[in-house]
Amino acid sequence: MAKRPSPISATVDFDADGVQHGFLKLPISVDESAWGAVMIPVSVVKNGEGPTALLTGGNHGDEYEGITSLLKLSSELRAEDVRGRVIIVPCMNQPAVMAGKRTSGLDGGNLNRSFPGDPDGTVTEKIADYFTRVMVPMSDVVLDLHSGGRTLDIIPFGASHVLEDVEQQRQALAGAKAFGAPYAMMMFELDAAALFDTAVESQGKVFVATELGGGGTSTPQSLAITERGVRNFLVHYGLIEGEVEMPDAPQVYLDMPDASCYVQSEHSGLLELAFDLGDRVEMGEVVARIYDLTRSGTAPVEYRASRGGVLAARRHPALVNMGDTIAVIADVVDSLD
Ligand SMILES: [Zn+2]
Repeated sequence: MAKRPSPISATVDFDADGVQHGFLKLPISVDESAWGAVMIPVSVVKNGEGPTALLTGGNHGDEYEGITSLLKLSSELRAEDVRGRVIIVPCMNQPAVMAGKRTSGLDGGNLNRSFPGDPDGTVTEKIADYFTRVMVPMSDVVLDLHSGGRTLDIIPFGASHVLEDVEQQRQALAGAKAFGAPYAMMMFELDAAALFDTAVESQGKVFVATELGGGGTSTPQSLAITERGVRNFLVHYGLIEGEVEMPDAPQVYLDMPDASCYVQSEHSGLLELAFDLGDRVEMGEVVARIYDLTRSGTAPVEYRASRGGVLAARRHPALVNMGDTIAVIADVVDSLD
């Protein structure tokens, strides 16, 4: 059976030239508001014919680098700066952003595990469905800004995926590099099926993701990288004029060929990381120790690297539970092509 139209409506006209700020409105009925709506901020900056870029932050509500950068851009970008159309959604999962959480404060939904979504599903699934069936079809290139959120800290990189369509993969990889973060990554996802990434890529559109720090905050450094990256993305795909600005040091290329990149905890306790983000790790070296907090006099459990590479991500809080990712080790490669 065909899906019914999305219950979400936009207060902006995506086809009108100029700058518009409005909302994607999703009707809800809750104790605090019987006839209420989730109001997802959206800005559209359009100037004549040209490609459409969709810029999204807040897919996870506690990843502030993208949210901050896109809020800033939305108040600064002028129509005369743009050729084509830039659609900015800084707080994609708005109920998660308002709760300061990864997942929705309304239904607990993880937006980036809810695609392609469902117009008759939860609030989170309705948001996913709207992006899958309305926002992505009107876009040519999509930049989805992630970072580690409250529980992870991650080196800054633009990322793309291995795709069946070689030309689509080439265009996305070029954008991931042109984002101009210190690293560029060919990313392996633990479970790609319900990601926004997959919803975009399966429509043949160019998709670039990022990781840009984390810890549930932002820093001057992480924001500088993010803001430069968003601008570079728009320059690279022809939305705004200018030159792509690359970092001073040569960009480091990383590959995550399989799940052995992820070091996951089989213990609960107190985490001691043996390396800083960006450090080189040799295969077999101790990456982390986990201490039993319930007793003294017990040696920590050691976690060793099952591959060599760069420490690309780490758990941010010191307390760990079984199953938590405590470290991610990515291969340093000469080329990603
Ligand atoms: Zn995220």
